[in-house]
Amino acid sequence: MAEIAELAAAVREFSRERDWEQFHDPKSLVLALVGEVGELAELLQWVPADEVVERFAAPDRRARVGEELADVLVYLVCLSDVLGVDLGAAARAKLASSHARFPADDVRGVAPHKP
Ligand SMILES: [Mg+2]
Repeated sequence: MAEIAELAAAVREFSRERDWEQFHDPKSLVLALVGEVGELAELLQWVPADEVVERFAAPDRRARVGEELADVLVYLVCLSDVLGVDLGAAARAKLASSHARFPADDVRGVAPHKP
């Protein structure tokens, strides 16, 4: 996934230009990532589940949720980069594993559950 690698390079350059790489240890990046997930969750907090898609179809709300999704992605990409994980390859491998674990004909329409 070239786009993820390009994003990782752009985030690395952004950090390098500001001498912020010194702050990007994995623990700090995980906390930053969780913080951004919290900001994303806050936007949806108290919105009835069956109204979320409709409410976030409005351009201003879509832009706002896009900002938080982007924050989450940037920290996830940065964390992956610091840990030397090829996020695109890891995601493809995980999806392949899920294909094997959850054959479509066996689980169609059934929510995954743990035994
Ligand atoms: Mg944010």
